[in-house]
Amino acid sequence: MQTPLSNRLRKVAEYVPEGARLLDVGSDHAYLPIYLIEKGHIDFAIAGEVVKGPYESAVSNVANAQMTDKIDVRLADGLAAFEESDQISVITICGMGGYLIAEILANGRAKLDKVERLILQPNNREDELRNWLAQHGFRIVAETIMTENDKFYEIMVAEHGDMTLSVQEHRFGPYLNQEKSAVFKAKWQRELNKLQIALSHVPISHEADRFAISQKITAIKEALNDKS
Ligand code: SAM
Repeated sequence: MQTPLSNRLRKVAEYVPEGARLLDVGSDHAYLPIYLIEKGHIDFAIAGEVVKGPYESAVSNVANAQMTDKIDVRLADGLAAFEESDQISVITICGMGGYLIAEILANGRAKLDKVERLILQPNNREDELRNWLAQHGFRIVAETIMTENDKFYEIMVAEHGDMTLSVQEHRFGPYLNQEKSAVFKAKWQRELNKLQIALSHVPISHEADRFAISQKITAIKEALNDKS
């Protein structure tokens, strides 16, 4: 039976170069590494998990898939799941908040020097993550936005290098803001609607709150405008 993999993780898988040695942090069921090995796209991965329940389900899924020789499941916090001798070339960190992803990267920054590519799928605070990448010697080389089960997901691919982003690019993504795809517009239109409703409920006397929301609204309107 083929591994059940969300379209979100399939998209992440597309950015994993053939033959990569992968660390999937927060692997949960280890579906992503199993899928990539099943396809013959890679032949070594570490599935890292910090919580015992998901770790055990990863161990049993890898055993059921008869991949124990190719996928090492490790109970570990973030980048503690690998050593230099594992020769990891790509790290995926998906399905967590942007702040947590940045924290995981920061806690193991020294180990990232030999890693060629990070593929990150934050569930929120994408701006926080872009900020961390820019300040720690990474540049974004590709981005995607997609929708599944009525949720929007952004995927960013980063490699070593310099990156300077404008305020708008930090918030909306350098490539996504350039492309302005239909999904991008739908995401930010939804956010705009929420903020406009929120603003209508803030009393006129709460000037600072109204100003903060209005600024967000202005930035989104600018991002939604094709000429921005
Ligand atoms: N990556 C899978 C995906 O995108 O579908 C699973 C996402 S799940 C919502 C997040 C997983 O990350 C959980 O299984 C959680 O235990 C794990 N996790 C959270 N913080 C972690 C850390 N510091 N190190 C390793 N795993 C972590």
